[in-house]
Amino acid sequence: MNGKNRRILLKSRPVGMPTAANFGAVDVPLLPVADGDVLRRTIYLSVDPYMRGRMSDADSYAAPVNLGDVMCGHTVSEVVESRNPAFRAGDIVAGYDGWQQYAVSNGKDLRKLDPRAAPVSTALGVLGMPGMTAFVGLIDIGQPRAGETVVVSAASGAVGSVVGQLAKARGCRAVGIAGSAEKCRYVVEELGFDACVNYKTDDLVPALQAACPNRIDIDFENVGGAVLAAVLRVLNRGARIPLCGRISEYNDTEDRGGPSLRSLLVNRAMIKGFIVSDHGDRMPAFIQEVAPLVRDRRIKYREDVIDGLDAAPRALIGLFESRNFGKMIVRVSPDPTLA
Ligand code: NDP
Repeated sequence: MNGKNRRILLKSRPVGMPTAANFGAVDVPLLPVADGDVLRRTIYLSVDPYMRGRMSDADSYAAPVNLGDVMCGHTVSEVVESRNPAFRAGDIVAGYDGWQQYAVSNGKDLRKLDPRAAPVSTALGVLGMPGMTAFVGLIDIGQPRAGETVVVSAASGAVGSVVGQLAKARGCRAVGIAGSAEKCRYVVEELGFDACVNYKTDDLVPALQAACPNRIDIDFENVGGAVLAAVLRVLNRGARIPLCGRISEYNDTEDRGGPSLRSLLVNRAMIKGFIVSDHGDRMPAFIQEVAPLVRDRRIKYREDVIDGLDAAPRALIGLFESRNFGKMIVRVSPDPTLA
């Protein structure tokens, strides 16, 4: 196939909040497809908070993106040409092709999707890495029991929305924390959480105490900072804290000093950091439990879709400005399964 492949590269490392100037676009020619290879066109690109970490060269659990390299990211794509017997033109695949219109590889990194089973974009959200994060963190680390109270921050987002609905499915009280009245309304009225606290307008500790009359047994922590500090003051005896993310701290340029750990001690609470990519063995259990719940609309999801590869930097920055409402996805090219 002839033509050009547009790519978005990491041009410089951000100090504080990322800006558009940290990225640069290039058009490169598409190379002929070699024997054994699969060429695909990106339909959807996922943008996720962890990408802020990959833009930085600070020590972390994964290597940074090198300056001048294509930004990384999960993708859903259509195979346009295959010289690999395992794939055919027209197949829809999930992969990790990054911020570009086309990608080529031997196909070992691809997972075929069935467009009849679920909209293919869900492979980036509710049935992809974020949904799996919710499953591993809540079920394996949080170990919820019916009647317990589960609090989750960034509650309307890709991970948080699944955490609260899974908690409800396990018979727990689910309380969200989110950053606007509209998001709180959505979390309670659409997703079926029992309550939602607005961390921008509510006095957090009394609001959490009111929403959690039996205190908090599981805090699924997505935000860190002041939100975590408030939650720690309402912990129950024996509480568990799956420490999933600290999005309020990702752009910090200096250490603000952490919340007091006293509550962890006096409540004999457990806090455990986890990275979803260490738990790939739980993928079949996750799909087995969550895919039917999504199909039956017992787990609802919301996607925030923005058009065009060039919009990816704006979409990523928006995650740290609370501009997204639901799983943030960039539509790089038309979705043929919706035609
Ligand atoms: P979301 O879809 O929830 O989008 C991010 C949301 O975070 C924003 O919409 C905003 O919601 C909230 N937010 C942004 N800035 C702040 C802030 N300063 N203070 C409080 N809230 C803020 O993202 P994801 O669901 O993809 O990710 C949620 C968390 O899970 C992140 O911390 C992410 O890093 C983590 N994560 C961890 C994984 C792991 O393996 N450990 C894997 C995947 C995700 P609002 O309007 O409510 O403020």
